Amino acid sequence: MVKGLPTRSEVTVEETWNLEDLFSSEKEYQDAISELVQLVDSFHSNFKGKITDSDSAIEALTGYAAVYEKFTPIGAYASLAFSTDQTDNEAQMRSGKFSSIAASLSSKLSFVDSELLELSMDELNEAMNKSEEYAHYLKELIRQKPHQLHPEVEKTLAAYSSSFSAPYGLYNTTKMVDLSFEDFEVNGKKYPLSYVSFEGDWEAETDTEIRRAAFDSFSKQIKNYQHTTAKTYDMKLQIEKTTSDLRGYDNIFDYLLFDQEVDQSLYNRQIDLITSELAPHMRKYAKLLQDVHGLDKMTFADLKIPLDPSYEPKITIEESKKYMNDALAIMGDDYLDMVNRSFDERWIDFAQNTGKSTGAFCSSPYGSHPYILISWSSRMNEVFVLAHELGHAGHFYNAHKKQNVFNSRPSLYFIEAPSTMNEMLMANHLLENSDDPKFKRWVISSIVARTYYHNFVTHLLEAAYQRKVYERVNAGENVNAGILNEIKRGVLEEFWGDAVEITPGAELTWMRQPHYYMGLYPYTYSAGLTISTQVSKRILSEGESAVADWLEVLQAGGTKTPVELAQMAGVDVTTEQPLRDTIAYIGELVDELIKLTEEIEGVATK
Ligand SMILES: [Zn+2]
Repeated sequence: MVKGLPTRSEVTVEETWNLEDLFSSEKEYQDAISELVQLVDSFHSNFKGKITDSDSAIEALTGYAAVYEKFTPIGAYASLAFSTDQTDNEAQMRSGKFSSIAASLSSKLSFVDSELLELSMDELNEAMNKSEEYAHYLKELIRQKPHQLHPEVEKTLAAYSSSFSAPYGLYNTTKMVDLSFEDFEVNGKKYPLSYVSFEGDWEAETDTEIRRAAFDSFSKQIKNYQHTTAKTYDMKLQIEKTTSDLRGYDNIFDYLLFDQEVDQSLYNRQIDLITSELAPHMRKYAKLLQDVHGLDKMTFADLKIPLDPSYEPKITIEESKKYMNDALAIMGDDYLDMVNRSFDERWIDFAQNTGKSTGAFCSSPYGSHPYILISWSSRMNEVFVLAHELGHAGHFYNAHKKQNVFNSRPSLYFIEAPSTMNEMLMANHLLENSDDPKFKRWVISSIVARTYYHNFVTHLLEAAYQRKVYERVNAGENVNAGILNEIKRGVLEEFWGDAVEITPGAELTWMRQPHYYMGLYPYTYSAGLTISTQVSKRILSEGESAVADWLEVLQAGGTKTPVELAQMAGVDVTTEQPLRDTIAYIGELVDELIKLTEEIEGVATK
């Protein structure tokens, strides 16, 4: 059923995104780089050593914003072109070259923050009073002041920024370029394997023998790279530890959470409460899967199978557009207009091809429209993936309209709220429009097996693992493959208990996730979904007024802290209540699935 993937040059143009909206040709891109370099040079000679009072501060920030606006599309073009085919030599070189240029320009620009922070508090306050536009930027900068280093040190560190991000590049190169998979064989028949086909198809394959064989083969083959991958990761961790120490943070968690504008209590709460309180519900769900599929035992390789494979409709890209329109209509005309443009103007890269980044993401360069990457497998549950990515798009589409280039990006803690909100809206829409118990069960199982599983289980277990890793690093230790495997296995065993056998290969799951190169990102999925679950309930019961609040939250961009953003939408995340309510809700959904299954199939479940 899974064919080998075509190369990038073989896919149809309609299924690709249109990067020409950023730059119409390679020449235009190269010209933009030359212009940027010149702009930075003239900015440097105009302002270096001259930010001496509130007026020159505002003037410098205006020029700085212009530099950033020019910077953004260039960076986006380099990374997006590379993400659709990491085996493409030209794209590889372009992306590498961009990060070198970016490092050298950042170094040249590092004087701005340094000189701003050398102003007296009176002058900084005066600048904030004079300019509403840059007040937020300055406020954030002042917060950073205790961790700011000598200007020459900042300049040097910025010059090394490309080298500091090298581990992530190395991780991707190992995973996407060097690692190739051999076919696997079941009963004399060969099946092709790749990262994309494993995560997109084989993990959910309903033939148990084939599914488990795919898992074994996948695990064996990635295992060949475990030591390189662990070493790469350790390098990243040690850079973070050194930075945290140099900048005078008490510990690495405070350093990593600083930009998120949340404290450790909000971080720890997600991991602790979900690990202990969600686990019983999810074990029940695993047991249901085992019963329905009549499996001898439930293994880690079986967790992604659909509850009802006979009810997994196929869906075309064109059909998905209608689903997006219907489900997201509640967000209003302007939002819907954006959704339709994303299809009509090719903002979305649907194609499946070799070398393409796995998973899905949305990139929203300031000054342009969002771009969405997805590998369309035609499974119906892609409507949730697409709704999710359109949630990111809708977030920045709204934020960019109201905020300047410095103020548009909110804390990571909040980043997955608008995206998961759209998954909830999709589920609500699907549930409202059918009384068919089989369809209803499919929808609820999609929310449990996809939305909540992904955000509250997969990413949360990554977060639990990551916390243990950082505890080691914080204590001055290193990691290697053996240690990472042990931590990962331990976390999986703690969560799944007796309900799921953590088969060999499961401990390598840490190798699959690029999130570890993005700081404390994994836990934010459950944080975002906690907020969106509560707000989507408000939208269901209150309708338009709740939608209006939500749009305001999106438009606030990065000008508020996550606690404030949640508050604007009527959710108080300073208490445990929203998270407890959300976990209880997941429990209700699992019970509903068990009830529906008994009704439909008469399967006796315990
Ligand atoms: Zn997302």
